[in-house]
Parts: sequence; C-alpha cells; structure tokens
Amino acid sequence: MSITVDIDSNSGFCAGVIRAIGKAEEFLDGTAGNGKKLFSLGAIVHNDAELKRLEDKGLVCIDRDDLDDMLDADGENLLIRAHGEPPQTYTKARAHGFTVVDCTCPVVLKLQKSIREAYAALRDRNGQIVIFGKPGHAEVLGLIGQVEGNAVVIEDMRMLVDAVAAGSIDLRRPVEIFSQTTKSPAEYASVCARLEQMMADANELSVERFKGTRMFVRHNTICSQVATRHAKLSAFAVEHDIVIFVSGKSSSNGKVLCERCKSLNIRTYHIDSPDELRKEWFRPDDKAGVCGAASTPKWLLEDVAAEIRSYNDK
Ligand code: SF4
Repeated sequence: MSITVDIDSNSGFCAGVIRAIGKAEEFLDGTAGNGKKLFSLGAIVHNDAELKRLEDKGLVCIDRDDLDDMLDADGENLLIRAHGEPPQTYTKARAHGFTVVDCTCPVVLKLQKSIREAYAALRDRNGQIVIFGKPGHAEVLGLIGQVEGNAVVIEDMRMLVDAVAAGSIDLRRPVEIFSQTTKSPAEYASVCARLEQMMADANELSVERFKGTRMFVRHNTICSQVATRHAKLSAFAVEHDIVIFVSGKSSSNGKVLCERCKSLNIRTYHIDSPDELRKEWFRPDDKAGVCGAASTPKWLLEDVAAEIRSYNDK
C-alpha cells in the first residue's frame, strides 16, 4: 500500500475548549485554586480519550443529579463548561457549597447576553424568542435559562413547520431568532428564510416589505470558528479520496461537521479512536484526510494518522 495521509490543519480544539481545558489543568496541577477537588458539570469535552487524560489527573465529572445530591461540597470546585449553564445552576452550586469555576466560552456569554436583552425588549412588543439548536443540549439549556424558559427550540426545518402548525410560533407576533453556536450556517440560513417567508405570508406582505417591519430579527450567533470550519472542511473533504472524521459520537459539533463531510465525500468514516479504524476501508493509493470536531485533540488526530500510515508497512 502507498496511502498518503494529511491532517486537517484547521481541526482540533476551538478557543473555547482550549480555554476550559487550560483552566482545568491549572486547578488539577495545583497552580490555581484552593487545593480542593475539581468537579466538572458534564463532560468538559466530548472526547473520551481527552476526558480520560484529565480524569487521570484528578478531574471528576458529575451530572445534574449528582449536583442535586451533593448538598455540602465544602468549597470544592465546580467547573462550568464552555457550553455555559442557566443562572439556576450557579445559584444551586453556590447554595450547595461549591466554588464555581466558570469556563463558559466568551462567545457563548455574548450570546446569552444578547438573548437576555432581546427577551427584555420583546416583552413590551409581545414578541417571541426562537432558538435554532438541539433540544436538551447544554448550551441550549443555558440559553433557555436566560429567558425564564420562554423560548421555542427548533432543530431543523421539520421542527419549524411543526412549531408553526402547533401554534408554538405565532407568525403574527414579532420573532427574534438565535442559533446555538455550533449549528450549520447553511441550515440556519434556510430555516430563517423559511420562517421569514411564512411570517410575511401570514401578514400579507412581500418579504421585501415585511423586512421593513422589523417583526423578524435574525441574530448571527454561530461561532465564527465553526462557520469558517464548515467552508474549510468542505474543501478538505472534496480534496481527499477518503475522509476519517474523528470525534466523540455525542459531540453535537462533530455530528454536524461529519455530516457535512459525508454529503461531499461518500467515503467518510466517523470514529472516536484509532481502534475503530478498519484497514479494508482503504485502497492502495488513497489520499486520506484526517479531520475532527472542535472537541477533538490534535494528538488524537496524529495517532489516527500514524495508524493509517502503518498500513503501508503491513
Ligand atoms: S465552538 Fe466557538 S462558541 Fe463554541 S466553545 Fe468553541 S469557540 Fe466557543
């Protein structure tokens, strides 16, 4: 075999994840913090290998039920992930005796602030907040928490149509729409265009005239790192004969990016570690591309590339 392997230079942790992991490591190696244990509310990164590396250093991941049960944390540290959390989580953690280590990504903090401001402004206009995101995702829960739960969450076009049919989105009332930071820019654009068209029709106006009413406001809240990744990853997928996409299977960003690769290169395989590679996927002269999500560490991409290169020696 003479397979060549490229690693996508744009893959790897985004700034928000690098920041959260860096902060966790400062606590784990004792250069920051109060010497107490470090808990993370949910997986700090959706990648089992990286998570294990941090757990081996002492990080303990807990879920919301654990937080409910831990009534006397005695100053132990609770890390809030880059995804952010609703305000109630901070209140509860402090009430239970935790020291909160807030690693919410600045981009998510900005989005939380904009949604709060829009919600306050829309109250007087009987308006509605719509979130384009995955129901139940931590970032989305954090956003809903900013608006006292008064938001409609739609993940795709079908959910938009269903929400309108069910009356959860009232086309005659003002709407401000926000996207979860890691959603697909193309899908967000399609959903926004459809909703705007439906609102224009319901108000018996052309889309052009409807725009002037400011009844529909779209906030561009997809993370710029994610948005540029989509374009660069698309080019990478097309340039290679076979694409190995590396990310945890539960990573929302990973699923979106992997689907993008698959839509452009049918020979795209989603793995979360080198163990899942199969030699039979490869042809003798393949130009293979290894890439990943915002939660995939660079060292893991290198391990996968090394395993593929080893097929040339066997
Ligand atoms: S994808 Fe963007 S918004 Fe989300 S954590 Fe990373 S840098 Fe922050």
